Amino acid sequence: MADPIPAAGPTAPAGAPTPWAPAKDELVLYRSAALVDCADGVDGAIRPGMTVVVRGSVIEAVLPDASVTAELIDAAESVDLSGRYVLAGLIDTHQHLATPPNREQAQAWLRRQVFGGVTAIRDMADDLRQISDLTRATLVGEIPGPDIAYSALMAGPGFFADPRTWQVSQGLEPGGLPWMKAIDSASDIPTDVTLARGTSAVAVKIYADLPSDLIERITAEAQRQGLLVWAHAAVFPTRPSQVVAAGVDSISHAQMLGYELAGDGELSTYAGKRPAMPTVPAGNPVPEIAGLFAQMRERGTILDATVSMWTSVETEGRPTREADRRAAVGLTAQAHRAGVDISTGTDYETPAADPYPSLHRELLFLAEEVGMSPIQVLRSATLVGARALGQQDVMGTIEPGKLANLLVLNADPTADIRNIGRIEFVLKRGRRFCRDDRPAGGARTSDAAPKG
Ligand SMILES: [Zn+2]
Repeated sequence: MADPIPAAGPTAPAGAPTPWAPAKDELVLYRSAALVDCADGVDGAIRPGMTVVVRGSVIEAVLPDASVTAELIDAAESVDLSGRYVLAGLIDTHQHLATPPNREQAQAWLRRQVFGGVTAIRDMADDLRQISDLTRATLVGEIPGPDIAYSALMAGPGFFADPRTWQVSQGLEPGGLPWMKAIDSASDIPTDVTLARGTSAVAVKIYADLPSDLIERITAEAQRQGLLVWAHAAVFPTRPSQVVAAGVDSISHAQMLGYELAGDGELSTYAGKRPAMPTVPAGNPVPEIAGLFAQMRERGTILDATVSMWTSVETEGRPTREADRRAAVGLTAQAHRAGVDISTGTDYETPAADPYPSLHRELLFLAEEVGMSPIQVLRSATLVGARALGQQDVMGTIEPGKLANLLVLNADPTADIRNIGRIEFVLKRGRRFCRDDRPAGGARTSDAAPKG
């Protein structure tokens, strides 16, 4: 076995208000690593004997060990990673940290996420008064956690009877807020998009109860103003193929693709929807949905499948929705085989005693139930996730110029996806989060692989 990893990475001075701050200018060589490369065209490649040169929060170079000069070694801290497997930090593309706001719980989740290898998450609509503060806090290192990219919600007026819209608007009136906005045909959409941008959201989340022409107008205006558009796969009455045709960047929840096959009268409102799954014929692939997947592949629309939440529903003792689970698995597998990029979103968190964040369950589920290979799952959790956040220029692969976001494992995750639990340390923006140093908080029980 190789030398132990030094516990302390580059840190801010003790007592600083940002104890988890990104690394500043330190030069560190992560040497003799086996890099797990998920970039397009090299799927499955493991490059042994590599050195990742990190300066501050950024990857400066990626070199074979033999190319590292004596001068560089003299100038830098060296960390020996022989026997370790290194991949880009993982990305969860579906989180809700503040519905309703509960700062203590959100911080516990964020802490477990970053110590579990998650270096960025997508927040899919919440109370943005709290989310923007949490985003700042993890970015500057006031608290440990992944980077957060978040969205402002838009939906039809009828949706704002949903109690969750009140939970995320407490003290104010949901539907008239920059992060919780009712849209109808009389709306001033350019102004509403500009107000959404003012929350520092990077995307508009299109949730429910909007006709396709309004989805098209919101999408075009949001993208014109530099925002991404993240939509539910079915918006009611708008069906999945119309959502995709509107030009959105990603759609969420594989089981909602079943509404593609529903009759027009069955797609009235989100609140009035019936379970999607009776509309999905038994057997796979479903030929009636092949055209939708071809359209998604053509446009590059990402599917944020969120398939493992059906196991979490079982775990929490609520009624099993076996039909939803089966449909979500079948439709995700068909989308994957059709060449649609799948991102790894969860839409839930695991119980406090679980040592790992929910994203581990999603990755296991995609490998073991949906049938994706480990390297395809890891590509989804890194490269595709970065694209889903619009952060592909700075995240998602181990390349010079990108953020030093790395997951260091002591076993090969391409041989067995469960090895993502064998974490030695995580690097986020050059800052080291050693697994053994993680703060208590109900999350320090066992390093065994999660049960899925
Ligand atoms: Zn959600």
